[in-house]
Amino acid sequence: MQPVFDGHNDVLFRLWQNAAKGADPVAEFMEGTHQGHIDMPRARKGGLTGGLCAIYITSGDLPDETRDANGHYAIPLSEPLERAPSLDIALEMAAIAFRLDRAGGWKICRTGAEIEAAEAEGKFAAVLHMEGCEPIDADLAALEMFYAAGLRSLGPVWSRNTIFGHGVPFAFPSSPDTGPGLTDAGNRLVRECNRIGIAIDLAHITEKGFWDVAKLSDQPLIVSHSNAHVLTPISRNLTDKQLAAVRESNGLVGLNFAVTMLRADGAKRADTPMSDMIRHIDYLVGHVGIDGVALGSDFDGATIPAEISDAAGLQKLVAALREAGYGADDVKKICRDNWLRVLRSAWHEAAV
Ligand SMILES: [Zn+2]
Repeated sequence: MQPVFDGHNDVLFRLWQNAAKGADPVAEFMEGTHQGHIDMPRARKGGLTGGLCAIYITSGDLPDETRDANGHYAIPLSEPLERAPSLDIALEMAAIAFRLDRAGGWKICRTGAEIEAAEAEGKFAAVLHMEGCEPIDADLAALEMFYAAGLRSLGPVWSRNTIFGHGVPFAFPSSPDTGPGLTDAGNRLVRECNRIGIAIDLAHITEKGFWDVAKLSDQPLIVSHSNAHVLTPISRNLTDKQLAAVRESNGLVGLNFAVTMLRADGAKRADTPMSDMIRHIDYLVGHVGIDGVALGSDFDGATIPAEISDAAGLQKLVAALREAGYGADDVKKICRDNWLRVLRSAWHEAAV
């Protein structure tokens, strides 16, 4: 079985939501459930050895995508969130992550060596990511604390504005150039992440924000869960110019399994064929190179193709990659090794 290290999931959000309704998140993850996409039994079955697990503060349910006759829609940007309640939620989600670690459900990993050790032990290698930095103050005191706790990746924004930058609203068709870029605090955040070794994720940021980070950051550019805009012209996907910049920086794009970001018509239909995933992979490989394409499933955060269904179905994608002509080394890079390489670089670790 080809091991898969995946660049983006929202399992902590699902566990946090269910915990609020009285469920035990440790049991839910370790014993398994029929809900959502990731738990220990399904990860094992699909060869999912680990991934970036997001701390994400919800704005509540988004308004329904009201699509016109052509299937076009534009959901207004969610309102900015207050910091104090966001910080409370971030601590609750981090606590679930550390309780799972203590219970042996997974291993929180802070280095490439720790990821490899967890994989060797057969433990899910969880890297803590923060999707949108609402819990972090402009003086970055909370950043220091979250780093000490194990945070190793963050996106300055989700599809919402923060004190650090501006996010893209969900809109189809739409350019990703929907608003301003980084703020002064955002510039400080990027420099500090570079300095202490936290990966910066450009999924959800406006195109201007993308270019601001590209100018400022000394890390490879990472877009953990986005696809090719040419194939699916949603605001969340990347233009050819952005893909070229990712390639130039030796960075990475993780394929998002969200059907709305894979299909040419942008529709939310689970009967999306695997060929749409391969079409994006082929295009991304053509524009970023085989060393710069990986997976960023958005498990537990999106409607994904029914054919994959959940983490247990990941080897179907592996099989589709092989059928599409990707050799063993290429499949390894896409499914795992490229993530390890860029994370090690962002974390100031020597390449292995
Ligand atoms: Zn996301």
